[in-house]
Amino acid sequence: MPAGPPVVINRVVEIFETLSSLNYGELHFARDAATGLMSIIALHSTRLGPGIGGSRIRAYANEAEAIDDVTRLAQAMTYKAALAHLPHGGGKAVLLAPPNLAAPGFDRVALFRAFGRFVDGLGGRYVTTEDSGTGAADMDTIRSITKHVLGASVDKGGSGDPSPFTALGVRRGIEALAHHVLGRKDLRGLHVGIQGVGHVGAHLARELTNAGARLTISDVEPARCTAIARELGAQICDVEKILDLECDVLSPCALGGALTEPVLPRLKCKAVAGAANNQLRTPQVGRTLHARGIFYAPDYAINAGGLITVADEYAGYDAARARQKTLAIYDTIKTIIDRSRAESQPPEVIADRLAENIIAAGPKKK
Ligand code: NAD
Repeated sequence: MPAGPPVVINRVVEIFETLSSLNYGELHFARDAATGLMSIIALHSTRLGPGIGGSRIRAYANEAEAIDDVTRLAQAMTYKAALAHLPHGGGKAVLLAPPNLAAPGFDRVALFRAFGRFVDGLGGRYVTTEDSGTGAADMDTIRSITKHVLGASVDKGGSGDPSPFTALGVRRGIEALAHHVLGRKDLRGLHVGIQGVGHVGAHLARELTNAGARLTISDVEPARCTAIARELGAQICDVEKILDLECDVLSPCALGGALTEPVLPRLKCKAVAGAANNQLRTPQVGRTLHARGIFYAPDYAINAGGLITVADEYAGYDAARARQKTLAIYDTIKTIIDRSRAESQPPEVIADRLAENIIAAGPKKK
């Protein structure tokens, strides 16, 4: 056996420290010299069923960053799947982007076939789907190797683009808070500010307009913003000013981390409810929102519609069933509102507790 570099013992300790701090679970590594594959699959929990979560491909600064990313993302998937009442645990995969990924002639198909073998080797305990940097073509490649992949296109009997379902779930969450936080009968006249009218934001804008809401929208892509504003009669707001908007609901549908401590004094909304992942930059942001009486709909509770529809493929895709389950996001948000009020705790703390209780109770009896 050729001698490798000296083993750095404390690296191993850091990995296990990471796993224990996040209450893991398993971490699997794969390398395939022929294709350039270097991949990590984190299986945070399989207590409720196979771990579900996307595979992303990214250039990481170092391996520690990749481990940090994949372990945190998989943990979040456990909570999200549990709160959405899915028969799944949480998992995630990262592929460390080879330096020549974008070079002409790079064999992406071979890379994802090798990744498919890695997923297959876990025997169905991890089920993958799309995430940032990967797309339907990569999922098709993985599918040629293993059946443990979701996110097929509609023409292949799959669920297709998840964003209309994500938007539907967000609309249902906004309805719940309009009824039970803002004391409204319906969404007519409710003023919603949407930050980012991409895939989810545009569908959400249509859902809300159909329900009679009044919209102000912003996007860093002016053409996209103008097209949606013309289609729906929405007002356009400068990208820098959307957080200052006086409105009923602010809906972050762009990037994560929109809510930071410095922006909190600028908020003039009564509630925050949007699709973006990881909206609260720090736990303190959530506590401050709660103290200011601004209701925050926990991101992973309200944006689960996309996951719900993709996961439905597991049982043979049925769009009507996926829609029904997505509509139930209303009940989840209502439960969070009720408990948050009764226990005087921020909504995201309540959401975590609800998810933890569901996980602790174990799989539903058939
Ligand atoms: P997207 O890339 O299609 O849309 C994002 C939009 O935000 C784009 O139009 C972009 O131009 C705009 N944007 C970026 N920065 C902005 C800024 N500072 N101000 C205003 N607009 C800005 O992405 P998407 O699929 O619509 O997802 C939106 C968010 O929801 C992401 O955080 C994503 O992780 C999350 N999410 C998406 C889904 C889904 O089904 N697509 C599911 C769950 C969570």
